[in-house]
Amino acid sequence: MLIVGLTGGIGSGKTTVSNLFESLGINIIDTDVIAHDLVNSDPSVLKEIVTLFGDDILNDDNSLNRKKLAKIVFNNKEYKQQLEDILHPKILDQVKNKIQNYKLRSTPPKYIIVVIPLLFETDFNDLIDRVLVVLTNEATRIQRIQQRDHRSMDEIRSIINSQVNDEIRIDEADDIIENNHDLAELKQQIKQLDEKYSNSAIHDK
Ligand code: ATP
Repeated sequence: MLIVGLTGGIGSGKTTVSNLFESLGINIIDTDVIAHDLVNSDPSVLKEIVTLFGDDILNDDNSLNRKKLAKIVFNNKEYKQQLEDILHPKILDQVKNKIQNYKLRSTPPKYIIVVIPLLFETDFNDLIDRVLVVLTNEATRIQRIQQRDHRSMDEIRSIINSQVNDEIRIDEADDIIENNHDLAELKQQIKQLDEKYSNSAIHDK
């Protein structure tokens, strides 16, 4: 079973791409979804976060105020590291478990996709066999994010600047998807990659 790590900058189209693979019947493990679920389903995780950041990080209904947390860690490297120290080992465990479950199936899938937005900023590299990068030019990303989130241009730019740049992503990529055009064109690229990943020859590389 080939394990493909899907990554790319903010707004590049990771979710769109993983949805297209999913529509072809491919199993997806999304580390963002796992991180989200961890906080919702494991009270000890929320407790650790509150111990670190105080009650102010909670909404009135005692749920996590994710926007506030994101703002705090974005502006403070030490806090960011501390939050990652809480979440990453747990996310990693869950990803490993999920991969193991797929491998143990009587007929394991040919390949699965693991969505790891910060693949090059974290230590999830050991898990995966191939790196698939989504590249979208910056102007298009900004335009799409603004349509999706109504964030300011400055906010989007500062997030883009806090992430690794596309040169590094290209250097590390085994496969690249260019997502500068419409969905039909994107679908075509996904179809070709699906054929490539389903072909046994690539599994021996
Ligand atoms: P984030 O890093 O914020 O999680 P992402 O990389 O998962 O973002 P998406 O949410 O998939 O990116 O895409 C960003 C926005 O661009 C979404 O609103 C999506 O619908 C839109 N989008 C992605 N690809 C295309 C495309 N080829 N044509 C038109 N719109 C697109």
